[in-house]
Amino acid sequence: MTAQTAERDLSAVIGLEVHVQLETDTKIFCGCSTDAADDEVPNSRVCPTCLGLPGALPVLNEGAVEAGVKVGKAIDAEIPEETSFHRKNYYYPDLPKNFQITQYDAPICADGELAFRVDGEERTVNIRRAHLEEDPGSLQHAGGSIDTADYTLVDYNRAGTPLMEIVTEPDFRGADEVRAFLAKLEEVLEYLGVFDASRDGSLRVDANLSIVDSKTLDGDDISAALEDANRTEVKNISSHRGAQQALAYEETRQKNAVRRGREVEQETRHWDESRGITVSMRSKEEEKDYRYFREADLPPLRVSGWKEEIAIPELPDARRERFRGEYDLSAESASKLTSTKQVADFYETVAAEFDSDLAATWVADNLLGELNYRDMQVTDVEGRLDEFTRLIDLVDGEAITTKNAEEVVLRRMLDDGLAPDAVVEAEGLGKTDDNAVLAAVREAIEENPDAVDDYESGEEGALNFLVGQVMQATSGSADPGTVNERLRAELDE
Ligand code: ADP
Ligand code: ZN
Ligand code: MG
Repeated sequence: MTAQTAERDLSAVIGLEVHVQLETDTKIFCGCSTDAADDEVPNSRVCPTCLGLPGALPVLNEGAVEAGVKVGKAIDAEIPEETSFHRKNYYYPDLPKNFQITQYDAPICADGELAFRVDGEERTVNIRRAHLEEDPGSLQHAGGSIDTADYTLVDYNRAGTPLMEIVTEPDFRGADEVRAFLAKLEEVLEYLGVFDASRDGSLRVDANLSIVDSKTLDGDDISAALEDANRTEVKNISSHRGAQQALAYEETRQKNAVRRGREVEQETRHWDESRGITVSMRSKEEEKDYRYFREADLPPLRVSGWKEEIAIPELPDARRERFRGEYDLSAESASKLTSTKQVADFYETVAAEFDSDLAATWVADNLLGELNYRDMQVTDVEGRLDEFTRLIDLVDGEAITTKNAEEVVLRRMLDDGLAPDAVVEAEGLGKTDDNAVLAAVREAIEENPDAVDDYESGEEGALNFLVGQVMQATSGSADPGTVNERLRAELDE
């Protein structure tokens, strides 16, 4: 068999364990704040509980459980009658207790799914379970890398931040699918208001990949075959792009090994972002290594009924469909306008007051375009949405020209933090009144006899030149249509 045919016969199989930080005010088992300031002092946002001091007891944060239920509803998962916590034992300095409080046999969510689009096609990935746990502290390896550092610093500020670990079935067949899935997952979590993608390290992925004979994927019961396949678990992935790159690398590495007749070792590997490669860390630990046992300090929690009681907002796919119908938008506009919940909410506020097409142009094209250009988000101007409505009002009421609104007012609003009326005032953009336009028209005619001659001998281009002269004389504040009309009226007299 040639290398090429062998290549075609091999398939990548990927399953993910995605850790997302849940947005709550306080940590999952203590009252410490989760609000991490950029310049905070290491080990300042801690207490006896999240430091694991002897005798300190955990108290479960209801908000974290509610967030977990919201995620469960969004991924169409089953929420059990009762959920409970376990201790996962391991010795590593990021966890001062030497165990992590997590969930084991009664996770808050089981058997969910998430649909997403990749290359124009819809795919659905099954979600085996999603459980709550505490984030460990963070380690900083002095000098950079985990295997070469002279020493390591530890900061427990992050310890105890609520995490949800979302475990998928091995349903992915390529790195591109993983990237699209993660983008969709983030979008849904942000809509739910339980997640902040802009927060550093708020999403971390462990990615499992194995290479199997493509034929096994056509079989009826592929799970047994996948169970037997040797896989690697790649840790330390903290972005969509990182996941895609790490998995593409791993797929090639394993395929090469298989093609050369070598066995892929079952192991844990580390994604080295700066070098763009995965490196072997240790042989993969097994479940029994963790000596799971019940967390006796936290009683089981009855959550029956929570699923009905806790409401979630309309999710992105549903909202996109509704926007297309209700506001008669193109698929592209609807998609842009629902890209985040804040954008969608803002669009609906504007569309309630103005024509839905005008609202779409202003929000999707003008506002998002200018924000994007400045690397800003709608959340950065959240407190100023009234000002943007006022800007659209000025255009809609023809107090300023569309061109000035887009190119001067909106830009100065974003660059200088000015209100629209202040920009109009400062730049003298109020539409010039009729007398001033007429005076400018007459002046242009008087000063450009050649252009007037050309116009009179039938050269239409000469009129455009004169319009340009008038626009310049009025600093762009005249309406070009009106200028055109006035010029013709004067010239044709
Ligand atoms: P472990 O007990 O080693 O943690 P699990 O069965 O809990 O393994 O699965 C962990 C992750 O590995 C899941 O995301 C799952 O989808 C994935 N996985 C399982 N089998 C495979 C495979 N053959 N190839 C790739 N990923 C797999
Ligand atoms: Zn604490
Ligand atoms: Mg597991």
